[in-house]
Amino acid sequence: MSMVAKEEKIINACRFCWMCRHVCPVGKVTGLERNNARARALALSLVTRGQSLTADIVDNIYECVLCGACTKDCVTGFDPTRFVKAARLEAALEGLTPESVVRILDDLEQYSNPYAGTVLAPALQEAIASLPQQAPILFYLGSSARYQNPQAAVTAIRLMKKAGVNFTVMMDEPDSGLYKANLLGSVAETRESMVQTAEMINKTKAEILVAFGPSCAKAFLRDYPEYNILLSPQVRTFTSWLNTLIQDGALVPTNRQNVITFHDPCTLARDLEEEDPAREILAACGTLKEMFLHGKHTMCCGSGLMDLYAPALTAKMSSSRWNSAQETGAQTLVTACPSCYTVFAKTQPDRMRLCGIESIVWEACK
Ligand code: SF4
Ligand code: SF4
Repeated sequence: MSMVAKEEKIINACRFCWMCRHVCPVGKVTGLERNNARARALALSLVTRGQSLTADIVDNIYECVLCGACTKDCVTGFDPTRFVKAARLEAALEGLTPESVVRILDDLEQYSNPYAGTVLAPALQEAIASLPQQAPILFYLGSSARYQNPQAAVTAIRLMKKAGVNFTVMMDEPDSGLYKANLLGSVAETRESMVQTAEMINKTKAEILVAFGPSCAKAFLRDYPEYNILLSPQVRTFTSWLNTLIQDGALVPTNRQNVITFHDPCTLARDLEEEDPAREILAACGTLKEMFLHGKHTMCCGSGLMDLYAPALTAKMSSSRWNSAQETGAQTLVTACPSCYTVFAKTQPDRMRLCGIESIVWEACK
């Protein structure tokens, strides 16, 4: 197995260490020792010493949601997601990528999104068509919002219009490249899709790019620089942008009756270290009751991407998160990620409401 030295060093460190096993959201719901950073490292350490990469090891590698909880918890600063992605690449090179993942990669190749989406919902098409074709602000929706949760995208567009923002949305928005990066690791194809996306974005001449999904924001703010890809506009998360609109008085929430709990998306709270703007937004729309694990300690909802190839595991994780939400006594669970929303909607209990952050603000400002 051709691991680079950095990944091999992390494998060798993690294989004898149990310190972060209590934070792995997958291990928590399966109760299996194989589902944590240490077990994955132990298996891969044998592979780096000459054993074959097996289908079972690869399956376990794909059972990691790349949530970064172990990375954040590690006092020695190791990042197991690095060797997980490297092992995914190795699996692809050896033709061992699971069939369920190959199907997603094929859809990404054919449709430029993992949902085989080809046509936007009419309401979303109409909302995008109502905007100017060029503007200083580019609102990047991301394929999860465009194909899985178009109503959220429509509401977010209405909210931006209500605030008087001069913005545009690309009708043929390119994929951020994040899915390939997560499913395949660092391959030339991943970089190539990111380069094409950056070129299309740069051509819009927008000064600011507001990313609706935090994972897209993470791709633009963290992965693109790592791949040495230049994006001209300044990148903002939707939550920080929305909070600015409220703080500046462009949006004025008047209904503060909601009792809310908030699910921090992993990429927002951990990768981008952004916790406060969403809380300031929600404080303007109601009363916030925190879940036991929140902020940078958030627990992954199960991941919209993993939901496409291991839905039963994702459902276990989102149900567990719903249990935490119910324990707060809040009526509504709010998330700031269209992909988390889709995952939560599949396991929503009867007695709680599910809302995207755009919807709660839209309701509060009516
Ligand atoms: S990431 Fe850190 S805490 Fe977790 S197994 Fe590796 S060395 Fe231990
Ligand atoms: S990234 Fe998340 S799912 Fe993967 S090993 Fe670490 S804690 Fe577990």
